[in-house]
Amino acid sequence: MKDLRQSQTLPMSRAAIQSAVERVWSAYQVDLTKKIDIVRITEWEVKDKFHIVSEDELRDYEALTETQTGDMYMREDIYVRACNGEPRARFTMGHELAHFCLHKNQDQNKRLARDGFGAPPIRYLQPGQKILCIYDPEWQASAFSGEMLMPAMHIRHMTIEEIILQYGVSRSAARYQKMRVT
Ligand SMILES: [Zn+2]
Repeated sequence: MKDLRQSQTLPMSRAAIQSAVERVWSAYQVDLTKKIDIVRITEWEVKDKFHIVSEDELRDYEALTETQTGDMYMREDIYVRACNGEPRARFTMGHELAHFCLHKNQDQNKRLARDGFGAPPIRYLQPGQKILCIYDPEWQASAFSGEMLMPAMHIRHMTIEEIILQYGVSRSAARYQKMRVT
């Protein structure tokens, strides 16, 4: 299993990430005025590729998505915490859903990506090599999770406290997302 923290992919602007999020919302007719049910959405989207595994099996990771096969491995304790509405675990789930939606099936999607469709290919970095955030699959995944859990059109006129309460996110995630939309 390769670590996406050492890779780069085709660039995605925040607008492109927002479009990807909107496709998921509309596919599952998500009510954006309520707390986003990220656990159910992820299970619907990932289906039988969603695996709950023990801590021993994942070791250093909370969750991992195998981009070649689309299999998503979620640590049991993170899954339980996400089901219980714990903000950080909910964000982790959104982040992992992003890898599934944006980065899976890299090789077979290379041609489609060139034509402007499908997931972009992943390239692995040399040690120490730095890239702009828009090329970084980890930045893309966290941006997707923020957009998914905190709909811009609704949080624009909300305070940080209101965002935390209404959307079940951490203070730092709410602050970051609020900066993005105002
Ligand atoms: Zn990641």
